[in-house]
Amino acid sequence: MRKLRGTEPTVFERRAPSADAVDHALAGAAHQVFWLDGLTRPAHPELIDQHAADLVIVGAGYTGLWTAIRAKERDPGRRVIILEAGQVGWAASGRNGGFCEASLTHGEENGRSRWPEEYDRLERLGRENLAGIVATVERYAMDVELERTGTLSVATEDHQIAWLAEEAGFLDGPATRELVDSPTFLAGSWDRDDTVLVHPGKLVLELARVATDLGVQIFEQSRVEVVDEGPVVRTARGEVHADHVVLATNVFPSLLRRNRLQTVPVYDYVLVTEPLSTEQKAAIGWQGRQGLADLANHFHYYRLTADDRILFGGYDAVYHWGGRVRSAYEDRPETYVKLAGHLLTTFPQLEGLLISHRWAGAIDTCSRFCAFYGTARQGRVAYAAGFTGLGVGASRFAADVMLDHLAGAPTERTELAMVRERPLPFPPEPLASLGIRLTDWSMHRADRRQGRRNLLLKGLDAVGMGFDS
Ligand SMILES: Cc1cc2nc3c(=O)[nH]c(=O)nc-3n(C[C@H](O)[C@H](O)[C@H](O)COP(=O)(O)OP(=O)(O)OC[C@H]3O[C@@H](n4cnc5c(N)ncnc54)[C@H](O)[C@@H]3O)c2cc1C
Repeated sequence: MRKLRGTEPTVFERRAPSADAVDHALAGAAHQVFWLDGLTRPAHPELIDQHAADLVIVGAGYTGLWTAIRAKERDPGRRVIILEAGQVGWAASGRNGGFCEASLTHGEENGRSRWPEEYDRLERLGRENLAGIVATVERYAMDVELERTGTLSVATEDHQIAWLAEEAGFLDGPATRELVDSPTFLAGSWDRDDTVLVHPGKLVLELARVATDLGVQIFEQSRVEVVDEGPVVRTARGEVHADHVVLATNVFPSLLRRNRLQTVPVYDYVLVTEPLSTEQKAAIGWQGRQGLADLANHFHYYRLTADDRILFGGYDAVYHWGGRVRSAYEDRPETYVKLAGHLLTTFPQLEGLLISHRWAGAIDTCSRFCAFYGTARQGRVAYAAGFTGLGVGASRFAADVMLDHLAGAPTERTELAMVRERPLPFPPEPLASLGIRLTDWSMHRADRRQGRRNLLLKGLDAVGMGFDS
């Protein structure tokens, strides 16, 4: 067990399972995204030759697809084209945890500390946005396995109990373990209303289905190389002349130079188990099927799938020198071993459990932990990025902000300080790597020192800058 000076080991280190148990669990795990495994996806053509549109959207993840749907809902006659470099939903939108949260600010603490005056409004807008997502799913009969389970936050260290004690849904240890039985749970708080769970892969493909039903044209394998004056959006083999452009490119290099240092890619890792047997389910409870999250700086998120597998992700947040997005970064054996060990520590009743899938994805981390927005080219190009691991719900709000911006008249959304302000950029290399490593080390240390933050973390808190996944 690695011990930092002046620190105590975490519960995952104190109660680590044997190396053999971890190896056994991981032995047959395919390096494949569970959510996309076996889904039928309609093919979309590549963009070739010249086209014209009222609105061109770059990127076919949640942000791009919600923008297309919201644009068509506002004005059904609008000609909308989406250009996607790979396939619809192959990136973060097809491989996330499926926690669809009301929060637009990466949680209340982050939002309230940055925008105390408008936080109540942000909370209301976030809840309206979540209700809008649920209503859309119902309106278009989208098969996305939506479950209104809420989230159960759990304390796994003594010092974390106080962090939950003030919350309305506070549960002591026995009451928490009554809901989900883990010996690591010391307290909990169940927020029933502000999170729904979805099947991320089905959500992104269903959004594409609805968009095409509304008349949106989607082109795949059509990487946009440049947005020229006009605006004209160019790929290797085609171009679109448009009135307006939306950039929904998330963690990938921004087509606008001004945004290149606004986000860094941080790799997040996920495991999915084989379906639990009836006996295994009985051993852990979890009848309410809540989304779970523990509370350390390096936290885990976990949930059940429709066929009762456990998805278990998070903890390591890995940045690579140079800030590139590369598939080679997605296989990181030491992280999968760590995650599998933490899963078995959480549910020792499940020893012998097998993991079927392992994968990773890049998170578009920005220094304020929630999306930023803006326009370029005399207001004809709009962008949103920087969801920092909480974009399943917030991407729909971002779509509305971008359409408001392109429409040109101020709205409640565009007047928000959260929308008008830009986050501090990350420094270029080598400072980015150095700063992120030091911050990550400090966060590990805080998790082992009853949550106490060192001078670096306090300094970053004071200037409103941080690093998270
Ligand atoms: C492992 C993991 C777990 C997560 N868990 C959660 C969770 O539980 N809850 C939550 O709220 N959020 C979660 N997130 C974050 C969430 O998935 C993202 O915030 C969200 O999917 C962002 O959607 P997007 O459309 O902006 O980006 P993406 O899904 O990344 O889509 C962007 C698209 O743009 C395309 N593109 C980029 N550049 C170009 C170009 N030049 N030309 C054409 N196309 C281009 C890409 O190919 C890509 O398809 C998680 C992320 C990861 C990686």
